[in-house]
Amino acid sequence: MKAKKTKLNYKIGLPAAIATKIEKTGQTRGAEKDTVYQNRVRRCSTVLIPISSWKTNFILPPNGFENGYIVLAHPEEYFSDNPPTPQPDLPNNLNLGQNLLVLYEKRSHWLYYNPNKYSWKPATSRIAPLGGQYIARVPDTTSSKDSQIRHGYIDKDTGGQGAGIRVYEYASSEEIEATKYQLSFLAWRTEGIIDMARKEGISNPEECKNRIDEKCAEMGIADIKLLQENRILDSQSRTVCPLCLKSIFASELASRVEQAEGRNVPDLTVTTANLFHVKELRAGVYNHRRYNLGWGHHHCNAAARDWGVDITLKWMEDILRNNRLIQ
Ligand SMILES: [Zn+2]
Repeated sequence: MKAKKTKLNYKIGLPAAIATKIEKTGQTRGAEKDTVYQNRVRRCSTVLIPISSWKTNFILPPNGFENGYIVLAHPEEYFSDNPPTPQPDLPNNLNLGQNLLVLYEKRSHWLYYNPNKYSWKPATSRIAPLGGQYIARVPDTTSSKDSQIRHGYIDKDTGGQGAGIRVYEYASSEEIEATKYQLSFLAWRTEGIIDMARKEGISNPEECKNRIDEKCAEMGIADIKLLQENRILDSQSRTVCPLCLKSIFASELASRVEQAEGRNVPDLTVTTANLFHVKELRAGVYNHRRYNLGWGHHHCNAAARDWGVDITLKWMEDILRNNRLIQ
């Protein structure tokens, strides 16, 4: 009989804080309750696509969306006026309540195109049939008689808040798995990782690293040259921040300071390294993918998050030149 090998996990041997950080990369970012987006769910969840994007050469991922998609149309995109009737020029592959919902976000729309006039129900399912025709997230106003309107995907019965995820955050479960292994591969190439693992009680960190290396080679995600070209590893195969190219320390990766959103006073004394998209996440491409993810400093990430590395470097060059710090 063959000895049973324990099933390998990308977390093997990694300090707990780093393993958790990798696990979270499989989730979308946070979302407030008053939006249509779900808060921190898997990147392979149901995708929300604005009808304006759907109409302009929308590119589906090669194998489609694992948990489907919902196209969202604002009332003025769905109705023609006087009297409000469904627009005749809607794409014929869209069916209200099947893969299309009307999204109410403005009080004027809510009043003029009120869903009760059409006997519509708020949607309840992320998979067709959607259980309704609309979703509403209309903010409160200063008037005392108005209150916030939130219909559709608001409670446990609908699997939590929000209808789905932003399309550019999508990744298939296969891609999520591959990127987690690749991020583990990179974590094992940060400064001080072996000592840190040993301090956490791992007796054989080198062996764990080797097992991850082997697994990644098997999966075709251990191409050192490509990782170097993409600014994720340096010439000595050390993990570097894709923007400033400084080595990443394991202690920075284990640091728990959150990606600051809404934090008033940024703490400049703590260097934290987080997930870094070399080519930024944006509509029309699926950039949460292997060979595009690295570990980068929190502050470098804040600078490059919307633009990606190439444009950010040009922007920084302009700033330095304008300040006469370079020629
Ligand atoms: Zn950096």
